Amino acid sequence: MAEATANIGVIGLAAMGSNLARNLAHHGNTVALYNRHYDRTEKLMAEHGSEGKFVPSKTVEEFVASLSKPRTAIIMVKAGAPTDAVINELADAMEPGDIIVDGGNSYFMDTIRREKDIRARGFHYVGCGVSGGEEGALNGPSMMPGGTEESWQTLGPILKSIAAVAEGEPCVTHIGENGAGHFVKMVHNGIEYADMQLIAESYDLMRRGLGLDPGEIADVFGQWNTTELNSYLIEITAEVLHQTDAKTGKPLVDLIVDHAGMKGTGTWTVQTALSLAIPVTGIAEAVFARGLSSQAEQREEAAKQQLTGPSGSLDIPADEREAFIEDIRHALYASKIVAYAQGFDEINAGAKEYDWKIDLAAVARIWRGGCIIRAQFLNVVSDAFESGEANVSLLFAPYFKTAIEEAQESWRRVVARAATYGIPVPAFSSSLSYYDGLRSKRLPAALIQGQRDFFGAHTYGRVDASGAFHTLWAEDGRPEIEA
Ligand code: NDP
Repeated sequence: MAEATANIGVIGLAAMGSNLARNLAHHGNTVALYNRHYDRTEKLMAEHGSEGKFVPSKTVEEFVASLSKPRTAIIMVKAGAPTDAVINELADAMEPGDIIVDGGNSYFMDTIRREKDIRARGFHYVGCGVSGGEEGALNGPSMMPGGTEESWQTLGPILKSIAAVAEGEPCVTHIGENGAGHFVKMVHNGIEYADMQLIAESYDLMRRGLGLDPGEIADVFGQWNTTELNSYLIEITAEVLHQTDAKTGKPLVDLIVDHAGMKGTGTWTVQTALSLAIPVTGIAEAVFARGLSSQAEQREEAAKQQLTGPSGSLDIPADEREAFIEDIRHALYASKIVAYAQGFDEINAGAKEYDWKIDLAAVARIWRGGCIIRAQFLNVVSDAFESGEANVSLLFAPYFKTAIEEAQESWRRVVARAATYGIPVPAFSSSLSYYDGLRSKRLPAALIQGQRDFFGAHTYGRVDASGAFHTLWAEDGRPEIEA
C-alpha cells in the first residue's frame, strides 16, 4: 500500500479533473490521482508529471491509502449516476472524519441528498461549484463550496490557494450548508445563459438589423469592453467575431450551425425558479431561445412555408446607425442588470427555502474572477449588497436605478424597433416587461383573480377590505366573505 503522503486527491482525470489536479500541484499540494480507466492517469503523468508532486493510483483503495488524514478527495466525474457510484466507492474505502468533495456540475437537490447520506456515515460532504471551464480549472477557477463550516476549515486554505484572484481576493467563499454551493453555481450558469443571449441579440440587431459584417461588430464589442460592460463574455465575443475560417476565408461565425446546445444547468435554474415562484424571465428566455434555435424541423418548415413578417432590416439611415448602436449598448446593460437582479432573487429565495445563510455580496465578489460571467460590473453588484442598498432587489440600489433610468429610452427604442422590423429579442423584451411589471402600481392580475374566482371559486382579496371573497358571478354578483 502507498504511503499517506498526499494532502489532497482528485478522482476523475478528464479535462476538468486533470487541470484541477495540476493547479493543485502547482500550488505546493501533493496530489493523489485516480481515474476509472488508468490510461487517463498515465497520460496526465506522462505529459505533466514533472509539474509538481503527484501520487498516481490504479485502485480507489490505493488512492485512499495515499492520502494523509483528514483525507480529502475531490470528485471530478460526470454528474448524475457516475458521481453516486464514485461517492460510494470512496466512502467504502475512507474512514469517518474524511472529506468527500464533489466538484462536478451536480444538481443541488442531489447534493442535499448525498450530504445527508454521507453525513450519516460519518463523513463530511462538500458539493462545490467550479466555474471557469478547463482554462479556469488550470489557472484559477471561481469556486462555490457548500458543506459544513468544519470541512471549510480544512478545505478553505487549499481552495483559496488555487482559486482565481480578483482585486487581491481569492474567488472562493464558503457559500452555505449542504447544497448551497451547487445551487449558487446553478444560478451562475443561468445568469451566464442570459448574458450570452443578450449579447447574441445585440449581435443580431447589428448583423441583420443594420447589415454590419462580423468584423465591424467585433470592433463594436471591443469598444464596449472598455465601458461598464467590460467582461469576459464581451471580450470573447469580439474574438469569436474576428475569427475567419482557415478553409474559406469567410467569417467563421457565418459557417457555424445556428443551433445552440445546452447541458442542463440553465434548465435547472429555470425549473427551480418556477418551483420557488421567482420570475427569472431573462434566464428563461435565454434557455427557450436555445431551444427554439435547435428546433431544426420546425424552423425549416417555417422557412419553406415562408411565415410572413418584416425582413429584419431595421431601416436605419446610415447617419443614425452610430446612435442606434449606442441604444443597443444601453439596452444590453439595462437587460443585464435585470437578469442579475433576477438571478440574485433566486439565490435569496433558495436560501430561505433551504435554510442557508448566503452572503450575496460575497457571491458577487467570487464571480469577479475565474468564472465565465466575470465582469467589472460585479464590483458594484457586491457593493450594493454589502451596503444593504440591494436588500430588496438589485434594481433598487441607487447605482443600478440610475443606470436603468439613463438606459431606459434606448432600451425601449431598441425593443420597439426590433418588434416592428421583425428581429427576435426575447431577453431584451422580457427584461423590459419585467421592469415595467415590477414598477406598475396596479397589474391586470386583478382580472386574473376575477377569472379564477369565476371558474374555480378560488376567491380573491379586496383593496377596500380584508378577508377572502367569492362572488356569485352567475347570480346576483354579490360577494361573499370566505370563512
Ligand atoms: P466529463 O464530464 O466528460 O466526465 C469524464 C470523467 O468522468 C472521466 O474521468 C470518466 O472516467 C469519469 N466517469 C464517467 N463515468 C464514470 C463512472 N461511472 N465511474 C467512474 N468514473 C466515471 O469530464 P469533465 O472533465 O468535462 O467534467 C468533470 C465534471 O466537471 C463534470 O461534472 C462537469 O459537469 C463538471 N464541469 C465541467 C466543466 C467544463 O467546462 N467541462 C466546467 C465546470 C464543471 P473514464 O476516463 O474512466 O471514462
